[in-house]
Amino acid sequence: MMVIAIDGPSGAGKSTVARMVAKRLGLVYIDTGAMYRAVALAVLRAQIPMEHTEDIIGIAENVTIRFEQPSAAEPNAAQQVWLGNENVTDRIRDPAVTQLSSPVSAIGGVRAALVARQREMARSVGVVMEGRDIGTVVLPWAEVKVFLTASPQERARRRCTELAAKGHPADIAVVAAQMAERDERDSTRSDSPLRPADGSVLIDSDGLSACEVAERIISMARSVECRCSTE
Ligand code: C5P
Repeated sequence: MMVIAIDGPSGAGKSTVARMVAKRLGLVYIDTGAMYRAVALAVLRAQIPMEHTEDIIGIAENVTIRFEQPSAAEPNAAQQVWLGNENVTDRIRDPAVTQLSSPVSAIGGVRAALVARQREMARSVGVVMEGRDIGTVVLPWAEVKVFLTASPQERARRRCTELAAKGHPADIAVVAAQMAERDERDSTRSDSPLRPADGSVLIDSDGLSACEVAERIISMARSVECRCSTE
C-alpha cells in the first residue's frame, strides 16, 4: 500500500496537489489540517478560553471527525468534512477558525489525539496525507515524502484567491501577516514543529503549476513502485 506524505507551510499548494496525486494513483486523500480546524471550530463554539488546555484536549479526544470522499459519479467534487453529524466543510475555512487552529494545534494533547486517528486512517488503505508533521511524526515510514513550499508572496497571493472564491475577500497584506504569524508558530512550537522530514524531497512550487508538482510526485511514487517490483 502506497503511503505519500506531503508537508509544508500554508498556501504552498499542498491540498490541490495532494488531491490530484490521490486521484491519479487511486489513493485516499487525507487533509490533516481540516482535523485541527474542526477541533478549533468546536473550541470556538464551546467558547473555551485558550488557557483551558485540558478542556481543549477533551474536545480533541471526543469529537467525531469524518471525511466523506467524493463519489465515483462525481470524482471532482470536494471532499466533505463532518464534525459529529454536521457538515463543516465550509465553516472550518472561516478566518476565525483558521487563526485559532494554529494555537490549538500547538497543544501536545490535541496532537496526540489527532495523530492517533490519522495513523488509524492510514492503517488499511494507501493514502496521500498532507499537513505539517506527516513525514516527521505521523507516517515517518511513508515511501514518498515531500516538503512543498513557495515564496511568502506567492503563498499569500494563492490564499487570497482561494478566500475570494469562498466569499471571504481579503487584503493581501493582512493575509500575508497572518500567514507569517501562523508559520512562525507552526515552525517553532516544541511538539512536532514544521520542518522537512529526513528523506523528504523539497519542491518549491513558485513558477510551477499544481499539475506540474503533482506529476513530479506521481513519478516519484511510480519509481518507488518500480523498485519494489524488481526487488
Ligand atoms: O493546513 P491548514 O492550513 O488547513 O492547517 C490549519 C492549521 O492546523 C495549521 O496552521 C497548523 O497549525 C495546524 N496543522 C498542524 N499539523 C498538521 C496539519 C495542520 O499543526 N498536520
